[in-house]
Amino acid sequence: MLKEFQTTTSKEQEIVDITDKIKKIVRDSGVEQGLCLIYVPHATAGIIINENYDPLVCADIINKLEELIPSSGDYEHNKIDNNAHAHIKASLIGPSEVIPIANGELQLGRWQGCGFLELDGPKDRRVIVMVLEDN
Ligand code: ZN
Repeated sequence: MLKEFQTTTSKEQEIVDITDKIKKIVRDSGVEQGLCLIYVPHATAGIIINENYDPLVCADIINKLEELIPSSGDYEHNKIDNNAHAHIKASLIGPSEVIPIANGELQLGRWQGCGFLELDGPKDRRVIVMVLEDN
């Protein structure tokens, strides 16, 4: 089953918690055992599975990425599109994650959630979710 939803970001760089949306798609699919693929078709965004309980974890991820790959660095791509840092960060994080489904539930750990990582916002973004049944 293939589903898609939009996420609207409000900052240049932020992590939006999309866990509830993904859980609903999995529940609605009726799949008891399988895989859930979460994918963003964007070159300056990513998908992260990590803690969503303390929002400061998201702040730390954004801040550390910024420290490693500063927005204002000297990049070739900035000559045509002033967002090279966002492409590099997105390459490191990756555009997708796969989560096992068992007993109809995403097998996320107690402190894990699904995050949409915006790196060149604010923008309207697409999130594609595929639920595959293991049979
Ligand atoms: Zn670009």
